[in-house]
Amino acid sequence: MRPPERWPLHPAPAEAESLSSWLRRIAASYGMYSLELLEHGLGHRELPDPELDLDPPTHLLEELARRSGLDQSRVGAMTMTGWVPWLFDSLVPAPGAYETYVHQFSVLLPPKRRKIYAPRKWLPWLPGTGVRRGCPECLESSPAVLLFWQLPVMASCPVHGRRLETYEGHPADYILLTTPTHDQRVLPEPLSLMDRRTWQAITTGSVDLPRHPVHAGIWFRLLRTLLDELTTAQGGYGRQLDDVRRVWEHCGHPFRAGLYTWQPFETLGWTAQQQLLEAAAVAMELIEAGSLTALGTSAHLLLPEPASNVGDGTRPAAPTATAGDQKEPTLDELWDRVVAAFDAAVEAAREDPETAKKLYDFALYGLGNRRSGNGIREAFTELNIPLDFLSHTDNGDPFA
Ligand SMILES: [Zn+2]
Repeated sequence: MRPPERWPLHPAPAEAESLSSWLRRIAASYGMYSLELLEHGLGHRELPDPELDLDPPTHLLEELARRSGLDQSRVGAMTMTGWVPWLFDSLVPAPGAYETYVHQFSVLLPPKRRKIYAPRKWLPWLPGTGVRRGCPECLESSPAVLLFWQLPVMASCPVHGRRLETYEGHPADYILLTTPTHDQRVLPEPLSLMDRRTWQAITTGSVDLPRHPVHAGIWFRLLRTLLDELTTAQGGYGRQLDDVRRVWEHCGHPFRAGLYTWQPFETLGWTAQQQLLEAAAVAMELIEAGSLTALGTSAHLLLPEPASNVGDGTRPAAPTATAGDQKEPTLDELWDRVVAAFDAAVEAAREDPETAKKLYDFALYGLGNRRSGNGIREAFTELNIPLDFLSHTDNGDPFA
């Protein structure tokens, strides 16, 4: 007998829930384990939780969408692969991936100040081993385990305003909190604010920064950039060393989270990761308050709106000659202006669909050939301009 198309029971996924957690809860409503549901309900082999949550086979996602009546993109969003390209550029490690993700922006330090590392097989945010971490209060009211609890991208629950805790056991049956004493600290307000912003990125796709909202993809990269800047060796800070020391003193954690030699944030233990997240949150707060010098090209995103706006008010204008300066600009100066204007246009296009479309049309106009649109789309992907911003341009499908 063929199993019914639509499962009669399928609890709705919680916001940002992981696929393994949702399957476990569906299975539980039939008195089954999720591996039994996979095998008997879907005719699929057993898949361990990390595989289910990372990049499960597409046909499994299609089948789950069919059985639950949910949109396939909603099912996909319960897995890491559903977060390409917002959180990840790709789930396939590639040479230069670190530089692309972490050096595209700069916040604290001027561009090119940081050493560019190239860790092997690196992917942003993904920890090497299975992580069991969650908000005890969320888990008390529901056994739903959130996808983002597995990632060191946030350290607290924005709903309950408390730190995530490591645990053993299974949320549906019992859990034993295992957070060591040295990680049981009060949640500082800057970290709580940073996590609320991350949560806004996850749940709405953008973050309200003081100056203007930014796309979630920009927020995740800004945050990862700041974490990289805070793991820079002392010698890399130059005159900013005292400022950075102040950030660590403010948090009460050892400089550089006690790192003696550099290693990517993702491979650190949760204690050091939390200390770095706290330092990033404090750095953001101090930059926002104007009491920390930030020389990065993207630092202005964290600053409050200036009293008098320039242009559309979203970013500084490209340098122009002043009224008193009647000298003809040199070719080098003109070229610098072109580069600055292009950088500003690309940065604006990453956040604003209208600007993205204008830039796209401008590039098409320059080529004089609409058939070259795919090349521009590739360039936009490389520049991290979301392709869905082009959904109303010539060929409709942003991923065509
Ligand atoms: Zn909670």
